[in-house]
Amino acid sequence: MHFSCGIVRPPYEAGSCFLQVTSGCSHNKCRFCTFYKEAPFSVSPESEIREDLQEIRDSGWKVKRIFLQGADPFLLSYDRLKRIMDLIKEYLPWGVSVGGYGRVDSVRNKSVGELKSVNYPRLKSRA
Ligand code: SF4
Repeated sequence: MHFSCGIVRPPYEAGSCFLQVTSGCSHNKCRFCTFYKEAPFSVSPESEIREDLQEIRDSGWKVKRIFLQGADPFLLSYDRLKRIMDLIKEYLPWGVSVGGYGRVDSVRNKSVGELKSVNYPRLKSRA
C-alpha cells in the first residue's frame, strides 16, 4: 500500500480500510495543525490507486468501508472523484461505502449539478 505520510483518520474510522488518493494538505497553513507539515501535497496517480485496490482485493478482506487518505480528497475534481469511485466498484464490487476528509472550500470546484449528482451518495465527506 502507498502511504506517503502515514494514516490520518477520525476515531470512528478505526475499522475502515484506507486508500491513499491524495497525500498531504493542499492548505497546510493552520497554525495548530502538525499532521502534514512534512508532507507536500500530491495527488496519487491512477496506477498507484489500482495497485492498492488490487492488494486489498488479493488480501481477501471483504472491506465494507474505505476512508480516503489525504487531508482533503474532496478537493479533487468531480471527474477524478467519480473515476476513483468507479475503480473502487471495479475492484471491490460487493458494495463499499466511501468517506474522506473535505475542506469546506473544496465544494467550490463542483457545480450544483455535480453536487446533486446521483454519483455522490457513495462518497460521504466529513470536514
Ligand atoms: S486544513 Fe486541516 S489538515 Fe490542513 S493544515 Fe488545516 S487543519 Fe491541518
